[in-house]
Amino acid sequence: MIPAEFDYVAPASLDEAIQALSQGDADAKLLAGGHSLIPLMKLRLAAPSLLVDLRRVGGLTGVKRNGELSVGAMTTHAEVAGSGLGLLSDAAGTIADPQVRHRGTIGGSLAHGDPASDLPAVALVTEATLVTRGPNGEREIAASDFFRDYLETALEHDEVITEIRFAEGLDGWGHGYEKFNRRREDWAMVAVCALARVQDGTFADVRVGLTNMGSTPLRARAVEEALRGQSVSAESIARAAEQAAEGTSPPADLNASADYKRHLARVLCRRALERAAGV
Ligand SMILES: Cc1cc2nc3c(=O)[nH]c(=O)nc-3n(C[C@H](O)[C@H](O)[C@H](O)COP(=O)(O)OP(=O)(O)OC[C@H]3O[C@@H](n4cnc5c(N)ncnc54)[C@H](O)[C@@H]3O)c2cc1C
Repeated sequence: MIPAEFDYVAPASLDEAIQALSQGDADAKLLAGGHSLIPLMKLRLAAPSLLVDLRRVGGLTGVKRNGELSVGAMTTHAEVAGSGLGLLSDAAGTIADPQVRHRGTIGGSLAHGDPASDLPAVALVTEATLVTRGPNGEREIAASDFFRDYLETALEHDEVITEIRFAEGLDGWGHGYEKFNRRREDWAMVAVCALARVQDGTFADVRVGLTNMGSTPLRARAVEEALRGQSVSAESIARAAEQAAEGTSPPADLNASADYKRHLARVLCRRALERAAGV
C-alpha cells in the first residue's frame, strides 16, 4: 500500500503547472483531490514519475453564472452539491461520503473517466463543454467527444481542465437522479440521470444518461427518441424506460451480473424520468 517513488511540485500558476507537465515525461500526472489517483498509486496500478499538484493554482474553483453556468475544475463535490445546480448538485451529493466530497473535484472526476463515477453521465446529458489549457492554448471539448473508453479521455497528457461550461445552464428542465448501490457511500451499481422539458403536458425534449452500463458513460438514445413529442404519463414513461438498456454492454462485477444491471437501468430510468417530469 505504499506508492512507487515520484517527484512532486506544487506550482502557483496555471502556466507553471502546464510547463511542469510538458517538461515531465508522459507519466507526469496532475493531482487534484487525489481521491482517485492516490488509491491507484497505493495499489501500484499507477506509478506517475511526477505529480503536479493544482492546489495552489488560483482561479480554478467556484461556480459562476454569467448567462451560462461555469464550474471551475477544482471545485469540490461538496461545493457543487451545495450550489443548487439541479441535476449536477443532486448527483454530486450522492458521491461517497463527506470526506471524499470535500477533497474530490469535478475536474478530477471527469478527467479520470470512470464510467462508474456519477458526474461523467451528468456531463453528457447536460451537453457540457470541458475547457482545457495546454502548451498550445485553450481547447473546448464537448462532453460527447471527451469520454473515449474505460479511463480513457480526449485529454492530452499536458492539458489541464480549467472549467466545465453548461451552455444552456441547467434551468428550465426537470431533473431526476437515481443511483443504486448497496451502501449509501458506494459507487453506483447503476445510476440513471434524466432531464425533461415539458410543455403543455408533452415531452418537448428528454435526455437520459447511464452510469456503469459500459466502458464509458452513455446516453439512452432509444428512450429519448421514444418520449419526444409524447404526452407525459406514467404509462408513456414506463413504456420508454423498457428500452433503457438497449445497445449497452454493462460489465458484470462482484455486485451485479450484466443482466441485473440491465434490469436496474430500466427501473431507475423509469424512476428518474418520473421525477424529472413530475409524474
Ligand atoms: C472511498 C471512495 C469512494 C468514492 N465514491 C465515489 C462515488 O460514489 N462516485 C464518484 O463519482 N466518485 C467516487 N469516488 C471518486 C471521487 O469522486 C474522486 O474524487 C474523483 O473521481 C476524482 O477527483 P479528484 O479531484 O480526487 O482527482 P485526482 O484523484 O486528483 O485525479 C484523478 C485523475 O484526474 C486527473 N486530473 C485531476 N484534475 C485534473 C484537471 N483539472 N485537469 C486534467 N486532469 C486532471 C489526474 O491527473 C488523475 O489522472 C470515490 C473515491 C473514494 C476514495
